Amino acid sequence: MKIEELILKWALKNALDHGGKALQNAVLSKIFREDSSLRTRVKELLPLVEEIVNQVNSMDINEQKSLLEELAPDLLLYEKKIEEKKLPPLPNAVRGRVVTRLPPEPSGYMHIGHAMSGLLNYFYARMYDGRVWLRFEDTDPRKVKLEYYESFRRGYKWLGIEWDYEKNNSDDIELFYDYAEKIIELGKAYVCFCPHEKIKSYRKKGEECEHRSQDVDENLKYWGMMLSGRFREGEAILRLAGDMKSKNTTMRDPAILRIVEYSHPLVGARYRVWPLYDFAVSIEDGVCGITHILRTSEFALRDELQNYIRDLVGMSNPTYIEYSRFEFKGTPVSKRKLRAVMEAGLADRWDDPRFPTIEGLKKRGIIPEAIKEFTLTQTGFSYAKREYDWSLLYSVNRKILDPVARRFFFTPNPIKLKIEQLESGEITIPYHPTNRSLGVRKISYTDEFYISSLDAENMKTGDTIRLKYLTNVKITNVSRYEVTGIRVSGGPAQNIPIIQWVPSHKCLNVKVLVPDVLYLDEEEINPESLKIVEGYAEENIVDIKVDEIVQFERFGFCRCDSADDRIFIKAHD
Ligand SMILES: [Zn+2]
Repeated sequence: MKIEELILKWALKNALDHGGKALQNAVLSKIFREDSSLRTRVKELLPLVEEIVNQVNSMDINEQKSLLEELAPDLLLYEKKIEEKKLPPLPNAVRGRVVTRLPPEPSGYMHIGHAMSGLLNYFYARMYDGRVWLRFEDTDPRKVKLEYYESFRRGYKWLGIEWDYEKNNSDDIELFYDYAEKIIELGKAYVCFCPHEKIKSYRKKGEECEHRSQDVDENLKYWGMMLSGRFREGEAILRLAGDMKSKNTTMRDPAILRIVEYSHPLVGARYRVWPLYDFAVSIEDGVCGITHILRTSEFALRDELQNYIRDLVGMSNPTYIEYSRFEFKGTPVSKRKLRAVMEAGLADRWDDPRFPTIEGLKKRGIIPEAIKEFTLTQTGFSYAKREYDWSLLYSVNRKILDPVARRFFFTPNPIKLKIEQLESGEITIPYHPTNRSLGVRKISYTDEFYISSLDAENMKTGDTIRLKYLTNVKITNVSRYEVTGIRVSGGPAQNIPIIQWVPSHKCLNVKVLVPDVLYLDEEEINPESLKIVEGYAEENIVDIKVDEIVQFERFGFCRCDSADDRIFIKAHD
């Protein structure tokens, strides 16, 4: 694609995402994402980008749409899907003005719950031609790790979420200090020297400690000492003067900044005073101009506190929309529970296909389109805790894959079948019964085959079965080691079971990992969450590449995990 076309493509896409007006910087970052070698040519590109963005912004939306349809139709598909599914309207939403955020804490790997919540915030921003922030809530240096930031960026990209702006809360430490000082000057924050246990018991009783009566000058002095290193971690904290009698315990003089003597993966040891979650979030939501926050209901008690902080510093408050936490039956997203599975020696990687992490789901063969559709159809804005069944996600995945996945013959736990009066030959059969675009494959055969032992178990002498696409067979003998039969004429019929087969002289050994739920109940780990099935597959599987998801007929949808070793992972039936 020529450079002008590349710019035009992203300018159109950006414009269509935002009610017809593209932003130069957003377009630039898209171009760089697609071809990072262009970064070195910024100077030369800028005037060109400006010119094309201006042209695009002068078109009407329908012109933009039809042009993009020709240039890059796949970029339009996503738009259409969102339009089709009607999400309930967002309260207080003004077209073009909605700003939402993806607020991951990079303290663990991205999982399905983050994905669904991220998608909701993204869908709504797009629905109202708004904008999306990716903002890392990374102000707890002990919890944050570099690899987790990347896990979220990769995961959101994989889901097709495109954010307009990105920042880390750790970029803004000085800003947090400014606001903290402002609040101290208002007489609404004080430096407290009480030990942790005392703070806890006073908050429980609803009593103020002696430090609350310090005056502004004293507090400013102590605050300066916190910053300059005169106090060690745990010796002093800055607390908000809230309401010690409030029924909402988060309002009872919470700590808003504290000393952390620990190096942060991004800013190192430059700062020793770090904001706590509620303070960082309230300030950042204000600074970023977030208008709507869609988040799970366990955060509800914090709204009052966060609004209070913003009111103090003169920032406007967003609209909160709550939904119940996404819980999945048998495979929890909780880090503690996943770690327990690892500690039991049953898994050793966070991208294990049994795990609900994004990498795990990807490895299993769950596709992003399925997660999107599942989120759109399953999410209801209710407060009640809701437990989802994984089978619901699998059925959406299956519905999307079924018309496009190539099909192959696979015989798990195979047993030999010999057929009399069958001459050797070759058949040409389609990769999919109705989707012609997937093409055809050839299978040559003699009079010896392998079939699944499960199929063999259901046979008895005298039965007639059909080898799919090939021939009918009358069974003459069934033993534990071998089945024999004789070829009979006729085609597929209602009362004849149709089974898959592979020629014994030309088949390949295949290993399939079959994941199951991790927990049998709340606390009991499933000791058999991963089974291995071996068998033979037709030789045509040699051209399956890593990551392709195919259907082994009457066995299930499987993702190719290693083409060389012929290892597959079963996604679902
Ligand atoms: Zn105190």
